[in-house]
Amino acid sequence: MEPILLLMHTGADGTLGKAALESLSAALALGGQVTVGLVGGQVQAAAGRIAGAGAVRMLGVAGAEFAEPRYATDAAAAEALCRAAGAGLVLAAGTSRWARALPGVAYRLNGRIDTHATALEETNSVPAVTRWYYRQRIEAVLTRSQRPWFVLLDPRCWPAWSGPGGTATVELVDVAAGAPRTRVTGIRAPQTDQQTIRPDAKLLFVAGAGWTKKQADGAVHGVEAASLILDFLGKTQASLGGSKSLVDLSGEGQAVLPFMTHMNQVGQTGSTPRHPKGLSTCCHGEEPHVVGWRFVMERRAINLDANCVWARGKADVVYVSDAFEVMRKLNEILRGR
Ligand SMILES: Cc1cc2nc3c(=O)[nH]c(=O)nc-3n(C[C@H](O)[C@H](O)[C@H](O)COP(=O)(O)OP(=O)(O)OC[C@H]3O[C@@H](n4cnc5c(N)ncnc54)[C@H](O)[C@@H]3O)c2cc1C
Repeated sequence: MEPILLLMHTGADGTLGKAALESLSAALALGGQVTVGLVGGQVQAAAGRIAGAGAVRMLGVAGAEFAEPRYATDAAAAEALCRAAGAGLVLAAGTSRWARALPGVAYRLNGRIDTHATALEETNSVPAVTRWYYRQRIEAVLTRSQRPWFVLLDPRCWPAWSGPGGTATVELVDVAAGAPRTRVTGIRAPQTDQQTIRPDAKLLFVAGAGWTKKQADGAVHGVEAASLILDFLGKTQASLGGSKSLVDLSGEGQAVLPFMTHMNQVGQTGSTPRHPKGLSTCCHGEEPHVVGWRFVMERRAINLDANCVWARGKADVVYVSDAFEVMRKLNEILRGR
C-alpha cells in the first residue's frame, strides 16, 4: 500500500472530533504508512491523544489563525502539509471544514478528489474507494491513477479510533497564510433543545404528512401532533426527519409543525442519514422517501394503512395503528422511566 497522509483538524475546544477519529481507523485499516497532518490553534494535545496509533510521522500546522474554520487558512495549511508529506493518497473526514477546503487544495496540487467515501480497500496493492451515486441507488468501487488523490470519508462508516494516548513529537510546518480577509466573529446556532437534527442519535424519528391530515373525528390535530413529537424527541434525543410532503407544507407557512424545515427532509431529494434504528410515523413510505433510509439498519413504521409501502417489504416491523395513540402511550411509558 502506498503512503497515506491523513489530514485532521481539531475542534473549537482543541480536541479531535468523532469524525476525525473515525478517519484514523479508516486510514490504519487500509494499511501502509500513515502520516498524520494536524491543523488547529494548538495541535500538541490532539497529537498526544492519538500517539498510540502508530503513525510514522506527525506533522502539524498550528496558530491562532488556524483555530477557526476558514477556506483560506485551511487550504493553505492542507497544501503545506501535503507538500511536506509528499503522500499520493490523502484521506480526511468529510467534515464541513474539509469538504470546503480540500477540493481547492486538490486543484492547486493538480490532484483529484472524491467525496462521500463509505469504504476503503486495497485491491492489487492499489487503494479502492466505495461510494454511492444517484441518491444512494448505485454503489461503485473506483480507483484512480492521478496523484495526489484526496478522499473525503463519510462520517459513521468506521468505528472511532479509541487506542491509547501518549507523548507525540509533532514536526511543525510553517505556512505563510497571510492576513485572512475573513474573520470569525461568533457562531449563531439554534439552542440545543431547538436543534432537531442529531446525526449521532441512535434513533431517527420520521414524521409524515399524516400528522397534518384529518383524523377519525374529522378534525386536524396539528397542535397535539407537534406536542407529541416534541415530547418524544425531548425524552429520547432522537433525530427528527420528515417526508417531503410534510416539510413542503411547513415551507408554505401553513400552521403545521413549526419546527419542521427542509433540512429535516429524508429521501431522494433530501438526506440519507445513518442511524442504527428508525421509526416512521404517519408516512406512507413511498420509494422516493424510503431511498433515504438506505443506511438505517432497523426500520419500524406506524401507519393506519395496512397497505402502506412500509408493509410491502420496506420496514422490519409495521404497527397498523393510530400514531397519535401509539405516541401518546409511548410518551407515557417514557415519562414513567
Ligand atoms: C422526484 C421526486 C422526488 C421526491 N423526493 C422525496 C424525498 O426526498 N423525500 C420524501 O419524503 N418524498 C419525496 N418525494 C415524494 C414522495 O413520493 C411522497 O409523495 C411523499 O414521501 C409522501 O409523504 P407522506 O408519506 O408523508 O404523505 P402521504 O402520502 O400523504 O401519507 C400520509 C400517511 O399518513 C398515514 N396516516 C394518516 N393519519 C395517520 C395516523 N393517525 N396514524 C398513522 N398513520 C396515519 C396515512 O395512512 C398515509 O399513509 C419525491 C417525489 C418525487 C416525484
